[in-house]
Amino acid sequence: MNRVMIVTGGSRGIGAAISKMAVTEGYSVAINYHTRADAAVNLVREIHDQGGSAVAIKADISDPNQVKALFEQVKSEFGTPSVLVNNAGITGKICRFDEVDPETMNKVIGINTLGALYCSQEAVKLMSTEYGGKGGSIVTVSSIAARLGSPGEYVWYAASKAAVDAMTVGLAKEVGGEGIRVNAVSPGIIDTDIHASGGEPGRVDRIAPVIPLKRAGTAQEIANAVLWLCSDQASYCNGTILDCSGGR
Ligand code: NAP
Repeated sequence: MNRVMIVTGGSRGIGAAISKMAVTEGYSVAINYHTRADAAVNLVREIHDQGGSAVAIKADISDPNQVKALFEQVKSEFGTPSVLVNNAGITGKICRFDEVDPETMNKVIGINTLGALYCSQEAVKLMSTEYGGKGGSIVTVSSIAARLGSPGEYVWYAASKAAVDAMTVGLAKEVGGEGIRVNAVSPGIIDTDIHASGGEPGRVDRIAPVIPLKRAGTAQEIANAVLWLCSDQASYCNGTILDCSGGR
């Protein structure tokens, strides 16, 4: 099978760790980003310097037309993808649910939920044996927020992640017989810029004491789980939502 992986939001944080690890495992990686071209270009340069194969592709995954264009570009650069990692995500600013504005909820659901749905739909059309494809794997980066609910922080974000868990379960059943395994990884608190973007740069330090392992996770620890789920080592995992949260 063509070892081509698309990582949405593959330019920073967890996505960057997934992109780098995928290259070391022999994938050509399409690194999708939205606004921070600098981060994406620097990561591609680093990968090329080490002899790896990667390309940066700008697309807002909350826009279905840009998602179609993203998949077209991947096909023309590397051929048909065999793995989609739905990783791009945002939280919106931390606040009580009754204070969040509709624009924030719209944006979070648009990127986290609709973005994952749009990308997965394009992936199924290319990978499914029903469409003449060779199969493949879809892994979505969800969150344990889906079951904790994130009260007082971002209930709307938790809802956006519960939706992708449902997509994982349903799509796994729908396309498992068409050569596509569909799984998810649910991180707990991981040390990336997402917390500062949500307005609380010190969130990792605040929450670490209540995590059974007493620390935040690293982006690499999530990449390990994602790369395992899309590998042949996980060939009987389908519809699995793997918590990677230090026991929280
Ligand atoms: P991050 O460091 O803030 O990186 C977010 C990535 O998503 C960036 O590459 C960003 O690209 C991209 N992105 C944002 N909006 C996009 C859009 N509309 N279209 C395409 N790409 C977009 O976040 P992270 O912490 O690595 O989080 C990655 C995933 O893990 C998210 O789904 C998040 O919900 C999930 N997660 C994170 C944690 C945690 O504690 N960090 C915990 C649970 C789950 P630009 O830089 O170009 O904007």
